[in-house]
Amino acid sequence: MKKIITEKTTPQQPKMQPEIGGKKCVEIWSAQCGECFKWRIIPSEDEYEEIRSKFIEDPFVCSKKAGVCCNDGADIEYDKSRTWVIDKPNTPKTPAGFKRRMVMRGCESRIDCYYKTPNGKKQLRSPTDVSNFLTSYPEYNINGHISLQHFSFNAPKIMQDTLPPTSAAAAPKD
Ligand SMILES: [Zn+2]
Repeated sequence: MKKIITEKTTPQQPKMQPEIGGKKCVEIWSAQCGECFKWRIIPSEDEYEEIRSKFIEDPFVCSKKAGVCCNDGADIEYDKSRTWVIDKPNTPKTPAGFKRRMVMRGCESRIDCYYKTPNGKKQLRSPTDVSNFLTSYPEYNINGHISLQHFSFNAPKIMQDTLPPTSAAAAPKD
């Protein structure tokens, strides 16, 4: 419980689960209420990104989720039954057509953030990749609305106390 309150400033949190190839990606999106500190499941990545993008000036509270209030039980508990990672607040919303992906490395010591492009041809893994892509494919930026500031490669923090016991020993590898 103490942990959650300490992490209050960065209350978004996705659950990670294995995907094909042994890598792990986010399975559940959730946000912590700034008033009762309960965790609410956010049904879609799009909604989650919307909340996250303005989290500092507009903190999440239970009543923002339809039909829910602070008196209702938590949707999900912060515990070891899943691996939790805590996102940075105010990460920009992913521009339309792009997909932001967060994948945990096999050793579970860090998470890689990258973007899938609208044409599916490239993975953007750095601001340089973004800038090269926008220059090479201006057709995906018709009104010139997309710029580097709409992309963030800040990885969420892996909560070590929620990693499976087998992997805890293998933590700092690279
Ligand atoms: Zn609440």
